[in-house]
Amino acid sequence: MCRAVGSFLGVRQLLAVWMGTMRMKAGRRGGGAAGQIELDGDFVQTTLLSRSPAAPLPVLDQRARGTKFIELSVRSVLNTPAATHMGFWSINPYVGCEFGCTYCYARDTHRWVMERRGSGADGQQGSSTGELSDTESLPRRPAAPLPPWEAFEKEILVKSDVAEVLARTLNPARLAGHPLVIGTATDPYQPAERRFRLTRRILEVLRSYHGLSIEIITKSPLVTRDLDLLQALSQRHEVNVNISLATADPRLARRLELRSPVPAARLRALRRLSAGGVYAGLIVAPIIPGITDDWAGLARLMEAAKEAGARYVIGSALRLGPAARHRFLPVLEREFPELYQRYRRHYANSDMTSRSYQDALTRRLDALRQAYGFAGDEASSRRRRLEDADRKADISHLAEQAVLL
Ligand code: SF4
Repeated sequence: MCRAVGSFLGVRQLLAVWMGTMRMKAGRRGGGAAGQIELDGDFVQTTLLSRSPAAPLPVLDQRARGTKFIELSVRSVLNTPAATHMGFWSINPYVGCEFGCTYCYARDTHRWVMERRGSGADGQQGSSTGELSDTESLPRRPAAPLPPWEAFEKEILVKSDVAEVLARTLNPARLAGHPLVIGTATDPYQPAERRFRLTRRILEVLRSYHGLSIEIITKSPLVTRDLDLLQALSQRHEVNVNISLATADPRLARRLELRSPVPAARLRALRRLSAGGVYAGLIVAPIIPGITDDWAGLARLMEAAKEAGARYVIGSALRLGPAARHRFLPVLEREFPELYQRYRRHYANSDMTSRSYQDALTRRLDALRQAYGFAGDEASSRRRRLEDADRKADISHLAEQAVLL
């Protein structure tokens, strides 16, 4: 399989993940067992949970500051393109993420799963047209649950048998050339991975195959723990590691992301991967209007990516779904009060930035990629061909200030 078909189709679709084109809804599968649900979005695993409704989920570990790691037994772990309406398959070893980025779109996923816990086996609604999963085994929530935003960061669901289920259910022929993306709704190298090593076990399973296109998205330098495995996999598959970084400014990053690795650590990881022969690049996401979208800030990221040996830089604008909105807007009001009213007005009507903003951002990224030598890069060329077939980058807009919101 050529990288253009595998990896870069994946990269383009990764942008779509951040653009938030996926939806989720509840439904019932006709003739199926009670508790089956339909997922119309890659944010949610098409997970078949096998535990009985009455059984509490075991707590595997607990941190002093309150984070619990809760075991989630599963029967299916792969999200299909048919279920997500995306051009890739995906797998997420965890639900929730201790990094606690205030803008995180995956909060909606965690909220949804936890609400299913609250509604028990009887809370299904809607009708089925696509891939289904089964939440009949989800136990009820404790009497005093954490608010959803906090539960996302402190109740991490751990799919302990994810690798075994993957080994049992992966049929490479079914992937039909589509990439398999690890970490679309959680960070696969979040702190839990040090303890549970599920992402590594997924990679070990994939070592038994060849000819796949494998993408990883992470903010964590822990990914370099698996450098040996990624190198071995690169001999058998098209492997692509996307290091996620919204800003090179560590102070700004900490205002937006509570516990994520500092930017320098992520760039070091990118350098190690690149030096180790693993195909890797920077994903600048989300690009936050009025906060991380300025020319100078994006230029610093491009420069740092270049120095770290990145093969490409891609990026997309902030999307705020309902759960992310509830978490992010109060942070915005406290940290960036001058932007608060504009955000509140705009995101009351849409999860997305305006089309004009996205177009201006695309022009800015294209110009920066060209300025920093990514335009001639294989990845950038393919990315442009794939993403921008219907519009041309206009260098005359180099100095244009993107119209925010
Ligand atoms: S690292 Fe990714 S999944 Fe985790 S909180 Fe941040 S944006 Fe969400």
